[in-house]
Amino acid sequence: MFFDNQSLAEVSPGVPADQLGRPLRSLRVSVTDRCNLRCNYCMPEQDYVWLPRQELLTFEEISRLVEVFTSLGVEDVRLTGGEPLLRRDLPKLVQMLAANPRIRDLALTTNGVLFAENAENLRASGLHRVTLSLDTLRPERFLALTGRDSHSQVLEGIAAASQAGFTKTKIDTVVMSGVNDDELADLIEFGREADAEVRFIEYMDVGGATDWSLDKVFTRAEMLTQLGKRYGKIIPVAEISSAPAQRFTLPDGTVFGIIASTTTPFCRICDRSRLTADGLWYLCLYAQSGIDLRRMLRAGDAVEDLAERIASIWQMRGDRGAELRAATGHRGVLVSIDQLRQDPHLEMHTRGG
Ligand code: SAM
Repeated sequence: MFFDNQSLAEVSPGVPADQLGRPLRSLRVSVTDRCNLRCNYCMPEQDYVWLPRQELLTFEEISRLVEVFTSLGVEDVRLTGGEPLLRRDLPKLVQMLAANPRIRDLALTTNGVLFAENAENLRASGLHRVTLSLDTLRPERFLALTGRDSHSQVLEGIAAASQAGFTKTKIDTVVMSGVNDDELADLIEFGREADAEVRFIEYMDVGGATDWSLDKVFTRAEMLTQLGKRYGKIIPVAEISSAPAQRFTLPDGTVFGIIASTTTPFCRICDRSRLTADGLWYLCLYAQSGIDLRRMLRAGDAVEDLAERIASIWQMRGDRGAELRAATGHRGVLVSIDQLRQDPHLEMHTRGG
C-alpha cells in the first residue's frame, strides 16, 4: 500500500509539502556526469558535452547543501551519477555526509564496475546501503548492452556488498522487450544467492533514452505474467511506503520489486528531487529546467536564505512528469539528440537516475 497525500503530510509534520501534499524528504545527489559504461538505454553515445570541471560542486559544497536540505526535513540521501565511483575520493564525501545525524538513509546507486575495490572503504566511511545495477547475467549480452567488457567486475561488486557487511542491498534491472526479458527468473535466483532484492524497472523515456519506443517497454503486467508462470501465485506485499518499487512475494517467500514508472507512474507519492554535480536542483526527473543552487552558494548566500528559497520552491512544486508522459497520445523519444547536445542537463546521467 502506498501513502495517500493526506497521510504523506501527516507522517511528515513540519516538513515543507508541495502542491500535492508531497513532503521534501528524499534527495538524489549526482556527484559526476561521467560514466564508465555506455548503456544503450541511458548513455548510448561515445562522447558527450561534459559539465565543466570548475562548475562541479566540491565535497564541502555538497555537504553544505545537503545540510540545508536535511534541516528542512530530507532524511534519505542517495549518491548517484553518471557513475558515482568515478568521482575521486567518494568515500571522503560519504564520511562527511555520514556525520550528518539527520540523514536516516545514506545510499549509493552504482553500476558496480568499481564497487568491489571500494566496498570496504565505503562501508567504513558510513555508507548505509547500496543499489547495484545489473541488466543481464550473460557476459555477451552485457557487452552488447553497455559497450564495455566489465561484466565480471559487476558480479564481483555485487558479491563484495555482502562481504563488506552491507545489508538491504538491491539489484536494479531495466527490462526491455526482446533484450533481457527472458532473464527475470534467473535474476531473481541470482539475487537470492547474493542476498540482494531484485527490482525490475520498466524502460523509461527519460533524457538519454534516444532509442526509446513503447514497444520496447516490458511492462509490469508482462513481468508478473511471466513470473507467475514460473513460480505460481505472486502476492503484493502490503506495506506503507513512498518507495518507487511495488514489492511482491513469491510462494517460497522471496521478495522482488517492480518500478513501473512508464505504465503506472507514482508521481502522487514522489518525494524525490535531484541535485546535479554542478548544483542544479531538479524537482522531477522529467523537468525541463532546474534551479541554480550553486550560484546562490558561491555568491555567499546565508544558509537560512538558501533554506527559505528551497522550501518556498518546493511548496510551489506541482510536477508529475511521468504521469503527463503516460497521458501523451503518441509517445516517443522525450528529448532529441540535438537538444541533448545543447543542454546536457536534460540527460539522465547528468541529473542522476
Ligand atoms: N551509474 C549508476 C548505475 O548504473 O546505477 C547510477 C546512475 S544510473 C543513471 C541509475 C539507474 O538509472 C540505473 O539503474 C539505470 O539502469 C537506470 N536507468 C538509466 N536509464 C534508464 C531508462 N531509460 N529507463 C529506466 N531506467 C534507466
